[in-house]
Amino acid sequence: MDGMLVIISGPSGSGKGTVVKRLDPTLGYAVSISVTTRKPRVGEVNKRDYFFITEDEFVQMRSENALLEHFAYVGNYYGTPRFYVEEQINKGKIVVLEIEVTGALQVKEKFPEAVLVFLMPPTLTELQRRLVNRATEDAVTIEARLKRALEEIPLISQYDYLVINDDISVAVENVNAIVAAERLRPHRNKKVVEDFTDSQVKMDYIKLTL
Ligand code: 5GP
Repeated sequence: MDGMLVIISGPSGSGKGTVVKRLDPTLGYAVSISVTTRKPRVGEVNKRDYFFITEDEFVQMRSENALLEHFAYVGNYYGTPRFYVEEQINKGKIVVLEIEVTGALQVKEKFPEAVLVFLMPPTLTELQRRLVNRATEDAVTIEARLKRALEEIPLISQYDYLVINDDISVAVENVNAIVAAERLRPHRNKKVVEDFTDSQVKMDYIKLTL
C-alpha cells in the first residue's frame, strides 16, 4: 500500500486532538509530533504532545529546512518536522498531521495528494463554550483564538472533507471512513494497478484459460 498524508485542521477547541487520539489503530496511523514554542499546558508531555522548543531552536530548524511547514499561530510558532513525515510516507504509512489551515495548505502544495479534513463544532457558540470550559488559556488568548477561528473557517472550501464534531464517536467514525475510502483510490495503489494491467500477466492468464 502506498503511503498517505491526512491533515486534520479546525479551529482551536474543535476537538482535533481527541479525534486523532481515537482513530482506528488497526489502520496503522503514524501521528506526526509538531514542534512549538508554546509553553506546555498542565498534563502535556514533551515529545508526546509536542516537541517544546525555544524560539532560537525553531529559527534554526526553519533555516535548516527541517520543517515541512510552519506558522505563527496566536503568538507562538508551530511546525511539522520534515524527516518523520517523509520517512513514514516512504514506509507506506498513513501519516496524520493535526495542524492549522495555513500550514495545511502549504503541505497540500508540496503533497497534492494529501487528504484535507476540516473539523468543526456544530455552532460557533459551542466552539466558544468548549474553549472557555477547557480553561487551558486565559481570556485574552481565548479571544485571539476565536478571532483566528473566524479567519480559518472561510478556508473550509479548500478542504476535501468537512466533519462536524457534535458527537465525538460519530466524528471519529467519519474520519476513519474517509481514510478507508481514500486508501482505495487507484492512484494510491499504483503497484496493484500495475500488476493487474501488466501485459505479460494478461498474456499468461489468457494462455492458462485457453
Ligand atoms: P495548540 O496550541 O492548541 O496546541 O495549537 C494551536 C493550533 O496550532 C492548532 O490549530 C493546532 O492544530 C495548530 N498546530 C499544531 N501543530 C502545528 C504545526 O506543526 N503546524 C501548524 N501549521 N499548525 C500546528
